[in-house]
Amino acid sequence: MIDSYKHQGLRKHLVEVVRDKGITDTNVLNAIGKVPRHFFFDSSFLKFAYEDNAFPIGAGQTISQPYTVAFQSQLLMISKGQKVLEVGTGSGYQACILAEMGAKVFSIERQRSLYDKAVEFLPTLGYRIKLFYGDGYKGLPPFAPFDKIIVTAGAPYIPDPLTDQLKIGGILVIPIGGDDVQEMTTITRISEKEFVRRGHGRFRFVPLLGDKV
Ligand code: SAM
Repeated sequence: MIDSYKHQGLRKHLVEVVRDKGITDTNVLNAIGKVPRHFFFDSSFLKFAYEDNAFPIGAGQTISQPYTVAFQSQLLMISKGQKVLEVGTGSGYQACILAEMGAKVFSIERQRSLYDKAVEFLPTLGYRIKLFYGDGYKGLPPFAPFDKIIVTAGAPYIPDPLTDQLKIGGILVIPIGGDDVQEMTTITRISEKEFVRRGHGRFRFVPLLGDKV
C-alpha cells in the first residue's frame, strides 16, 4: 500500500478535525498524524479512511471513529514505555496509535477472523504489538499488571479481572452501558483496594461480547 501526499494531506486534516473537537494531547495528535488509517481499509473503501467516522471491518465489527480513538487515547495519559492492554483489537488501528505513542501494547480480540488478519498485517507496518485471541473480559493474567487498560467495545459492567490487573496509579478506560449507548468511564486505581470512577460523556460502541459470539 502507498502512503501518498494525498493520504498524508488527508491525515493532516483529520488531525485538525479531532483537535477542533477538543483533543489537546500532542502525543495523541502526532500519532493520528502518523498512522496511515487507509492501510486498515479494503481498497474499495479507501475514500472513507480519513472521514471522522466508524467503518465496518467485517465480522459485524467496526474500526472506531478517529475522534473516539483520540479521546480514549487521551484519557489513558500514556508515557513512553508503559504497558497497555487493549481489549478489542478489531482492525488494529487503535493498537498502532498506542504503539506510536510509545506504549508496549498487548491486545486481545474475540473474533478469530479479525485476530488472524491483525497477526498477519500489523507486523508489516513495523509495529511490535503482542496479539492474543481470546476473551477480553478475563484480561491477560500472565502479562499483568498493566499501567493502562483500554476497552474498545461497550461493556455492560466493569469486569473485575480488568481492575485486578491494573497497577496502582493505573487507569482503565472503558465505555459502560447498554447496547445503544455507553458512558465513557475511567477507573483509576489509587491503592490496592480503592478505585476512583469518573464519567466522560456518551459514546456508541459495538458490544463487548461474553459467551455469546
Ligand atoms: N480497536 C479496534 C480498532 O482499532 O479497529 C476497534 C474495536 S471494535 C469497535 C470492538 C472490537 O471488540 C471488535 O473487534 C470485537 O470483536 C471485539 N470484542 C468484542 N467482545 C470482545 C471480548 N470479549 N474480548 C475481546 N474482544 C472483543
